[in-house]
Amino acid sequence: MDEIRIKNLEVFAFHGVYREENVLGQKFLVDASLFLDTRRAGLTDELECSVSYGDVCRLIDREMKSQNAKLLECVAEHLADQILHTFSSVKEVEIEIKKPWAPVRMHMDYASVRIKRKWHDTFIGVGSNMGDRKQYINNAENEIRSLSEIRNLRMAPVIETEPYGYTNQGKFLNTVFSFETLYTPEELLEELHRIEKNANRERKIHWGPRTLDLDILLYDDLITQEEKLTIPHPEMTKRLFVLEPLCHLYPQGIHPLLHRRFMDIYEELKKEEQENG
Ligand code: ADP
Ligand code: MG
Repeated sequence: MDEIRIKNLEVFAFHGVYREENVLGQKFLVDASLFLDTRRAGLTDELECSVSYGDVCRLIDREMKSQNAKLLECVAEHLADQILHTFSSVKEVEIEIKKPWAPVRMHMDYASVRIKRKWHDTFIGVGSNMGDRKQYINNAENEIRSLSEIRNLRMAPVIETEPYGYTNQGKFLNTVFSFETLYTPEELLEELHRIEKNANRERKIHWGPRTLDLDILLYDDLITQEEKLTIPHPEMTKRLFVLEPLCHLYPQGIHPLLHRRFMDIYEELKKEEQENG
């Protein structure tokens, strides 16, 4: 990705742990790197195809003056969030906030905090086999759409499938959501659990009937295996009802751990299941 950079933008603001800092104020220097594709702007010479760094500077100045935080961490987090929400072509941002006059009674160039934040690409497996199944899925879609740290949600066509694992239960409706998110995987899982809970989900039988199941299938190319969270989802390659909607949204996708196309995994599993009747 290409980069637009702002270096040492001077902003007079009132952040700091000490009350004196909140009253007297001081100078801050801000570096911002915006990661995006500038190819079209490069070919057309049109500002609308890119991001105006003047607008970014004004946003930084305005947002840094709009609140008094104790910590540079908090100021940086807020700026990253505002930039990622305001300029839709920006996929990733790096912010460094320097405090050259930090009150430490020693000489230094500056103290600073630097963070990187981005819109992560994620895919969620969705299932329901109790009550008004379509309604539960539609509600989940709307709830996710309404979250501020989510953008560009897409939903694959819903399919009806036979139960898996514990087979003495009703048929499922399944689909996959894809969207971009600023949440960490843990924060996202927490949000999904909250939405499951709103749908009266109860965890009684493992793989048993449920009003709504939301599983994180993929999160960028992240590979993680924690007690509470395994990504890529370990069961996804064994389930046609996950692979079919996933391939619909992400036909070019490659499994980060197996380094195989999801399309190939899907075709192979389908053939296997057909042969086994
Ligand atoms: P299942 O989805 O396997 O039918 P549950 O929805 O009841 O079962 O999930 C059980 C636990 O699985 C959750 O509490 C969660 O902490 C854990 N888990 C591990 N990896 C994931 C993942 N990628 N997505 C969702 N939950 C996960
Ligand atoms: Mg689940």
